[in-house]
Amino acid sequence: MKIQNYINGNFENPIENNWLDNYNPSNGEVYGLIPNSSKEDVEKAYESAKSAFLEWSKTTLEERSRILIKISELLEDNLQSFAEAESKDNGKPVSLAKTVDIPRAASNFRFFGNAITQFASESHESVGQNAINYTLRQPIGVVGCISPWNLPLYLFTWKIAPALAAGNCVVAKPSEITPMTAYLLSEICNKAALPKGVLNIVHGLGKSTGQAIVEHPEIKAISFTGGTATGAHIAKVAAPMFKKLSLELGGKNPNIIFADCGYDEMLHTTVRSSFANQGQICLCGSRIFVEASMYEKFKKDFVQKVQALKVGHPSDENTNIGALVSKSHLEKVMDYIEIGKNEGGKILCGGNKVTVKGFENGYYLEPTVMEIRSDECRVNQEEIFGPVVTIMPFNSEDEALQMANKVKYGLSATLWTNDLKRTMRMSNQLQAGIVWVNTWMMRDLRTPFGGVKASGVGREGGFEALRFFTEAKNVCIKY
Ligand code: NAD
Repeated sequence: MKIQNYINGNFENPIENNWLDNYNPSNGEVYGLIPNSSKEDVEKAYESAKSAFLEWSKTTLEERSRILIKISELLEDNLQSFAEAESKDNGKPVSLAKTVDIPRAASNFRFFGNAITQFASESHESVGQNAINYTLRQPIGVVGCISPWNLPLYLFTWKIAPALAAGNCVVAKPSEITPMTAYLLSEICNKAALPKGVLNIVHGLGKSTGQAIVEHPEIKAISFTGGTATGAHIAKVAAPMFKKLSLELGGKNPNIIFADCGYDEMLHTTVRSSFANQGQICLCGSRIFVEASMYEKFKKDFVQKVQALKVGHPSDENTNIGALVSKSHLEKVMDYIEIGKNEGGKILCGGNKVTVKGFENGYYLEPTVMEIRSDECRVNQEEIFGPVVTIMPFNSEDEALQMANKVKYGLSATLWTNDLKRTMRMSNQLQAGIVWVNTWMMRDLRTPFGGVKASGVGREGGFEALRFFTEAKNVCIKY
């Protein structure tokens, strides 16, 4: 299976005819090729986007909305095939792709298709000065969208949908590790009659194809989701060109559990927030802090539930934990388990590779719970991004807060308590862009999404995304 670039509505081979292998993580086999696109491919995609911009930026909001909603409907019609493709590329259970990834990708198009029709400009009357100000929200032009492998179509469309809704044309690059659903999306865009050149997808490596998008002097904004180191590099490259940047980066999120919480719901959700998508979600609560008075009970119950999770082939309906995304990522996560052990961590369950019968070369790992007594060790400070969590007791609210905030990251935090005053106190002080109380990863697409500190710059979601993808221009008229 050969994936091709999508430029000006056409499917094209990379100009230099260079290709990369595409792996199926569930069995470790190469099952396709993807373009290893060069700067010239990016240039061609840019030219196509530039030519389409004049017309697209002038289409009525209703027309843009209609096309985006049509894309959403076509994604829903093709739910099963998209879910299977996502799972084959990424290793996640098909059931998860079917209930989370693909429905959310469809929602992204539907949501921003609707949101753009409600995105109102502001006006300000300068009383006493005989003047009125109004603020235009103009599309930027050609924008770049670069996304990671963990929630491939979910995050790719989370950028593309608002960019298109706001009237921009796009040059986008999905992760080279999981390019398949972005490729399938291009077919759907043609079926939905998205005008040629409005969306262009170039596949390839971050350091070449991605870098060429960021370096392109006429691509005026970059929406990036990925690792913190890559985000820092992109910021450096983009700064001299004064590009607008939205950077959604790594996380090392605390999950803080007080003894007064609703225990059963907390336990059930904590298993999910630790290991959903093999722990490869930037929002996973990888550091679990538990009030000392119930620490031993939690430890016993949690470990029992984690041991009951089934690691298996992604297409098996009973599988809870599929394959990790790649061999190198599996090795990285295994290395962290060793690092944790050397730092005094005790493995309460998991810690080993799993061999799934018939798929012996797949990248499977047991969900791993590590008890560790220092919040400053590497496994409590660095993003592991796999099915590995640490647990630690705390004695007071202050101590929990201190440990939660003592990392370079600040994406999300989860809090389990039924004490309203504590909820308010802690939510105010947690250094994170998103705080969940008595739930996890509940998303209302109207709300702002993003992190503080090394977890990023800017917010996506709702009108925040539409603001990012437009330039505000104030017009002041004296009368
Ligand atoms: P990554 O940074 O390696 O790659 C992300 C994307 O950037 C890929 O498409 C890659 O090809 C591209 N890229 C790499 N180098 C580039 C360069 N020099 N110029 C331009 N593009 C480049 O990240 P990853 O391993 O794919 O994803 C995992 C990371 O993403 C984790 O750190 C995770 O926390 C983070 N993430 C964050 C969020 C969020 O919303 N904050 C969501 C999902 C994942």
